[in-house]
Amino acid sequence: MDDYTPDFSLEVEGVKGLCPAGEQYAKRMIAEKKIPVFSCEGPCIRGEIARLAANLVANEVPGYARSCHAETFFVPHSTMARWVKEAERAVMIDGCFLKCHGRVLTKLIHDEKVLHIDALPLYRKYTDLFSMDDVPEDERKAVAREVADKIKAMLKEQARAA
Ligand code: SF4
Repeated sequence: MDDYTPDFSLEVEGVKGLCPAGEQYAKRMIAEKKIPVFSCEGPCIRGEIARLAANLVANEVPGYARSCHAETFFVPHSTMARWVKEAERAVMIDGCFLKCHGRVLTKLIHDEKVLHIDALPLYRKYTDLFSMDDVPEDERKAVAREVADKIKAMLKEQARAA
C-alpha cells in the first residue's frame, strides 16, 4: 500500500446559516485581537492529549483563545473563519506527525502565520494505543499538562525572539 498522497482537494457540501454562539464568540475574539489556538481531537489518545493541551494553553496564556477548527474550515462565511483569516498568527496543536488539521489550516492562511506543533514528541507515550479510553483520565490530564507547559515555553521563547 502507498504511504503518500500528494496535495488534494475535497468537495464539501455547501451550508446555509450561522451558529449564533460561535458568531458572538468570534466577534469578541476579533475585538480582543486574540490569537486562535486549534487542535485535533480524540477519540484517538494523541488527538485528545492535543485537545486538552490546547485548552490549557488558550486559557493560561494571555492573548490566545481556542478556535473551532470545524467551523473555520467548513463554514467559510462564519465570523470564526474571518477571525482566523484576519488574525496576526495562529497556533495548531496536532496529535501526531500526520498533522491532519494543520495541513488544512496552512492552505487556508499563510503557513508562516501558523505555529504548527506535533504534540507527540513532547511526551512520547501510548504509541501502541488508539482509544483515549485506554488511558485513565487523570493520566491524560497530567500528560496534557506536561505538553501545555512545553508549548507555553515555546510561545514565550517565540515572543522573546520577535
Ligand atoms: S494528526 Fe491526524 S492522525 Fe494524528 S492524532 Fe491528529 S487527527 Fe489523528
